[in-house]
Amino acid sequence: MIVVLLGPPGSGKGTQGERVAAALGVPKISTGDVLRVAAKAGTPLGLEAKAFMDRGDLVPDPVILGIMKEALSAPEQAAGVVLDGVVRTVPQAEGLARVAAEIGTQVDVVLLFEIADEVLVSRLSARATCGACHSPVAGRQPGETHAECPVSPKGTLVRRVDDEPESIRNRLRVYKAQTEPVVAWYRANGGNVQAIDAAGSFADVEARALRAVGR
Ligand code: AMP
Repeated sequence: MIVVLLGPPGSGKGTQGERVAAALGVPKISTGDVLRVAAKAGTPLGLEAKAFMDRGDLVPDPVILGIMKEALSAPEQAAGVVLDGVVRTVPQAEGLARVAAEIGTQVDVVLLFEIADEVLVSRLSARATCGACHSPVAGRQPGETHAECPVSPKGTLVRRVDDEPESIRNRLRVYKAQTEPVVAWYRANGGNVQAIDAAGSFADVEARALRAVGR
């Protein structure tokens, strides 16, 4: 089963996507995570992507299509995959449909996390991310230690460069201009788009997301 997560930054799609992936027993892939690891390691891909990411702009489609192709053809993805932030433009949605068809599969469901802008800005500016495992950590402040980190128990919580206010505003602008049309594209092309109210408690949103994938 291929599940595409759509929703603005801060809508909780990454964390909820982990739960959806666990319930389905499939991996979750986030292009944001792939690109951050590459940027930290200083690979050519990472260096190309970093400037776009720091500003909150989108990395060019060909880079994303390359990651998508590699991810979908990996054997551990045979049972399916949850794609987090992987589809952010109409050409990427078209590219994913093509790549999926080449390997004899398709996008089964699109989970659209919907939430008001004011909630997003306050959530993102308070968001702390582990510098070692890169997971967002709810309810904690940058500077604290991420004792539960699976990579290093000394992982320190940081604020992502793109969670600074100017970058947040730009990411929301980019979402509206480039990613919202993807929702219309899926609806026009027979996609199974399930809108999820992403406001409310974590458990409530999780229950809505799991229901939408039949769990
Ligand atoms: P995220 O962690 O999903 O918020 O992604 C962080 C940043 O990575 C985005 O603001 C973009 O600069 C870049 N990025 C991640 N996924 C994509 C994508 N599918 N298309 C273009 N840029 C992306």
